[in-house]
Amino acid sequence: MANILPQFDDQLTQYCLDYLDKWDVHLLTSSPIKAIKPERVVYSNNDTNKELEAGTIIWTTGVSGSHVIGESGFSEKRGRVMVNDDLTDPDHNNIYIIGDVAAVMDKESERPYPTTGQISLQMGEHAAKNIMQQAKGEATKNFTFKNLGSVASIGNTHAFGYVGSTGVKGYPASFMKKMIMNRSLLKTGGLKEVMAKGRFDLYH
Ligand SMILES: Cc1cc2nc3c(=O)[nH]c(=O)nc-3n(C[C@H](O)[C@H](O)[C@H](O)COP(=O)(O)OP(=O)(O)OC[C@H]3O[C@@H](n4cnc5c(N)ncnc54)[C@H](O)[C@@H]3O)c2cc1C
Repeated sequence: MANILPQFDDQLTQYCLDYLDKWDVHLLTSSPIKAIKPERVVYSNNDTNKELEAGTIIWTTGVSGSHVIGESGFSEKRGRVMVNDDLTDPDHNNIYIIGDVAAVMDKESERPYPTTGQISLQMGEHAAKNIMQQAKGEATKNFTFKNLGSVASIGNTHAFGYVGSTGVKGYPASFMKKMIMNRSLLKTGGLKEVMAKGRFDLYH
């Protein structure tokens, strides 16, 4: 891609880039990787193949769905199903597909929403309600994603993003990010889960 972090505005993206730059992290955009060879990464830039030498190569590109989806006979692309507005599978109105294996279209950007914990949890609640509706013989409702914000970590003490529609960055954003994780753990696994996996490292 030509830019990273399309879900954030230019100012927040620049904040992230400047922060990474301070740590000597250099970012190559519009540079698709063509091959990984022993101790080198081959990528293309302006239609020219280039190489980077590296002793350690860590591949982190792309979150995809699951191969199980295609193997189970669903119509999928990269392990994800473009679901109906009520989260059912297009070919089966009694099967709900939610979470990372579901693609839900954002009608504003005309691209699927990014796969996140936030949307997965909302899909889970919505699908449960629709199953109840179907069990009662009533019509299902369309899913709408309520974006509560998005905060991205850069290291342990910095982050940036939106809480609601308010931009946040730096240590306060990092604090918020840890609180968001704790809230999510509380919602999915209760207090026991928060105590086991919660983020309480707030002062370093
Ligand atoms: C590095 C990373 C960081 C992320 N950070 C954030 C973040 O900060 N905020 C956010 O909102 N989202 C974040 N996400 C995305 C978020 O984790 C996912 O969107 C969310 O967990 C999706 O929920 P899910 O239930 O669909 O899938 P998952 O949470 O992935 O659960 C799927 C489960 O199914 C199991 N499974 C898979 N295949 C099989 C199989 N064949 N048989 C049996 N079990 C199987 C897996 O082991 C897993 O336990 C992050 C994802 C990654 C990878």
